[in-house]
This record gives sequence, structure tokens and C-alpha cells, in this order.
Amino acid sequence: MADVVEIGQFADWMRRYANVIHENASRLTELDSAIGDADHGSNMDRGMTAVVAALDDAEFASAADLFKKVGMTLVSSVGGASGPLYGTFFLRFGGTLGDGAVDAQTLGAALRAGVDGIKARGKAEVGDKTMIDAWTPALEAYDAARGDGLDAALRAAAEAGARGRDAATPLVAHKGRASYLGERSAGHQDPGATSAVLLLEAAAATLT
Ligand code: ADP
Ligand code: MG
Repeated sequence: MADVVEIGQFADWMRRYANVIHENASRLTELDSAIGDADHGSNMDRGMTAVVAALDDAEFASAADLFKKVGMTLVSSVGGASGPLYGTFFLRFGGTLGDGAVDAQTLGAALRAGVDGIKARGKAEVGDKTMIDAWTPALEAYDAARGDGLDAALRAAAEAGARGRDAATPLVAHKGRASYLGERSAGHQDPGATSAVLLLEAAAATLT
């Protein structure tokens, strides 16, 4: 089978992510209660529930249109930092997919554009103990495995993202609410890095 992602698979990805977020909402909120304000699970659950409702309500002519809806819905329905950050990710991601067939190279470029959007908005770099600590090694692993096909690339990205998430756990946070804790943020797993890995795992399960 050719490595081309269809628009229906993108919708499946969002629906699966919404389910996974719902199942993990209390865990994400528990992580956020240690180094934040105990709302990451409920923020993401509210946002992804609104995304599924928006997908149910409309037909999309292109993946770019679909992700524009996803991004705008997250920005407007999630109050926390994660809403604008994930919203920006999906807006940039969809804008880079274009109207043509989406192959492994196009998907990789779109993921990178999405992450560049998060960095432009949140100004975090690797080591600041945010979702960027999961995303950055994930993109590197994706590009390194892309020659082996989309499935291999997405799996490698999810695994590298999980390693990046775990590598950030001992670090002191320099961005977001966790940074207010200073040294006391060390030793806690970052909630946003955790939800980013769930997104990559859902991608590996639906886009291949
Ligand atoms: P809030 O911090 O507003 O309560 P959430 O709890 O929903 O929002 O999301 C917290 C997560 O957002 C953090 O775990 C971190 O991964 C991510 N985050 C916070 N600030 C930034 C930033 N400047 N850049 C990238 N990610 C960030
Ligand atoms: Mg929070």
C-alpha cells in the first residue's frame, strides 16, 4: 500500500486522540497538580470533546480545512496555555499539508511546521521541561526513519517523544506555570509532554 494519508484518517486521528485524552484525563490532571494548577486533563478533554463535536457537524473539503477547524476549536474552548499551543500546532500543521496527497515527507514537514508554531508562540526550547522536550526528539526520529515508510517514522517519533518526555522529568522547568516552582519542579513528569506523546501514539495508530 502506498504511504498516503487520506482525509478520513486525519479525522480518525482526532477522534482517537479525543478518546485517549478522555481516558487519561485524570492522570494528566494529576501530573498538572504536582507542578501546575491541576487542569491539563480537563483542559484537553474539554478541547478534544469540542473538536469531535465540530467534526460531527461539518464536512471538510481538505485536510487543511479540517485542521483549521480543529485548531480554532482548541484555541476557543481551552483556557489554559495548552489551548493556544495545541491550536497553533494544528493550524500550522494543516496549513502545511496543502491540498495534494499527503505522503511521509509532507506529513513530516507539517509536523515540523506545527512544532515551530508552538515554539514561536511559547518560546520554549528543549530542556525547558515542556511539550517541546517530547516534540523535538520525535521530529528528529521521524526524519531519521522516514526512508522506512510512514508507519516506521510515526512509531519512531512516538518512542523518541516518550524518551524525551521522560528525560525532562528530572529537569527544572523554565517555561509555563511549572517554572513558578523553580527547583521544586524537578522530578515531576510534564503534563504537556505527556499529552504530546499520546498525540503521536494516536497518529501511529491511525495514519498508517
Ligand atoms: P496551564 O499551564 O495554563 O494551566 P495546561 O495545564 O493545560 O495549561 O498545560 C500545561 C502544559 O503546557 C505544560 O505541561 C507544558 O508542557 C505546556 N506549556 C506551558 N507553557 C509552555 C510554553 N511556553 N511552551 C511550550 N509548552 C508549554
Ligand atoms: Mg494547568
